[in-house]
Amino acid sequence: MSRLVVVSNRVAPIQEGKQSSGGLAVAVLDALSEIGGVWFGWSGETYASGSSKVKTETKGNITYATMPLAKRDYDAFYKGYANATLWPLFHYRMELVDYHRRYVVGYRRVNEEFAGRLAPMLEADDLVWVHDYHLIPLGRDLRMMGHRNRIGFFLHIPFPPPDLLTTCSDHAFLVQSMCAYDLIGFQTENDVENFLSYIRKVAGGTVGRGGRFEAYGEKSRACAFPIGIYPDRLAAQAAASADARQTKRLLRSLTGKDLIVGVDRLDYSKGLDRRFDAYETLLETAPSLRGHVTYMQIAPPSRSDVQSYREIREVLEGKAGHINGRFAEFDWVPLRYLNKSFQREQLTGFFRTARIGFVTPLRDGMNLVAKEYVACQDPEDPGVLVLSQFAGAAAELDGAVTVNPYDTEYVAEGLQRALAMSIEERRSRWASMMSVLRANDLGAWRRNFLRALRSR
Ligand code: UDP
Repeated sequence: MSRLVVVSNRVAPIQEGKQSSGGLAVAVLDALSEIGGVWFGWSGETYASGSSKVKTETKGNITYATMPLAKRDYDAFYKGYANATLWPLFHYRMELVDYHRRYVVGYRRVNEEFAGRLAPMLEADDLVWVHDYHLIPLGRDLRMMGHRNRIGFFLHIPFPPPDLLTTCSDHAFLVQSMCAYDLIGFQTENDVENFLSYIRKVAGGTVGRGGRFEAYGEKSRACAFPIGIYPDRLAAQAAASADARQTKRLLRSLTGKDLIVGVDRLDYSKGLDRRFDAYETLLETAPSLRGHVTYMQIAPPSRSDVQSYREIREVLEGKAGHINGRFAEFDWVPLRYLNKSFQREQLTGFFRTARIGFVTPLRDGMNLVAKEYVACQDPEDPGVLVLSQFAGAAAELDGAVTVNPYDTEYVAEGLQRALAMSIEERRSRWASMMSVLRANDLGAWRRNFLRALRSR
């Protein structure tokens, strides 16, 4: 079988014991551990002047090949185009898009450099799998260097409808670059539809059956491959974590109150400001719940060198202080707001302790936390997932209480319903979600994508 070469912006830390918390890193590591291969990407380091070298290191069946970025490339490519232009644009937040030509120049430069450094390592029958919005043009760059390998691309974040995408001057460059891949994977059917709608309406291409299309002189295929987790492994971890010291401390601190839990990177796409508003509305409209629920929001800071991320942090600190100032009692703090990250093993125990998983992004490619919360529940006494209709996970998790995160009163009602739900209903909703998680686990995601790429 051909060798697998994965390319992603960040490569999981190679050192033992260092946890890679992002969903992408976990998924790629799982795929590579299973079948072996090469993982190429940025080392996470920058250099001020001079040139860079690719460093390779083999551990088990995976060869890690990483390179540092020049400081100016880090600024233009990573901080700029990837995180200040494409991230808000692809999350439907045009008003937050920070667009500069020097950003896209840096983005193209880094992709060309990645392709140039990867090229000598490629063998003719390697299967190349490129990940995410940082590296959209990489496949096309490899093609221009003469590589005829099967090359697939998976977008971990949403793909916006054409009317939004075309607000970015580079839309044609982005989509044309995507068309150079043999297979383009998206998280949901909705993302596939948005992409194919661009192909039809803007690119003037033709769309056939099974996501096959022709545009810009290329033939390719766009399909949904929702990324999953290993629910039974997480369930076992959660059951074990129930006895862990930290879980017991959490439980003791609740003194019988129902726990609502949220776990999100501090990112404006996660809808935390409106989520806080919805919780305030709940306490306002259901006074009987005061003193009987505790909402714990874990929100590790991310991308804090991008302006919009600093702003959201300030907004949330203000809102958290306001809610606690307004409702707290001498023996009850309604909102625990934690600006730090936790190991996944600890989170599994917290998820199992929580009566409600509160996941209300304004837009999210998938949202693994939603899936993890469900997997961690006690089958005899499961909690309820309150989930935004705009999370990719909503397409699969039909047993969640689905809410519109833009309507805070509706979200507060969803919380109330979830808190009052009978045990029979909780069990039946949980069982239906768990069977979907088992059928679409992380292994299925990888197998389905690679099978489609090989057989195209
Ligand atoms: N996560 C973690 N520790 C934390 C916060 C999050 O390990 O303190 C993990 C979480 O369990 C999940 C991932 O990070 O597996 C976040 O993935 P998700 O798809 O929910 O959001 P993203 O951050 O990728 O937008």
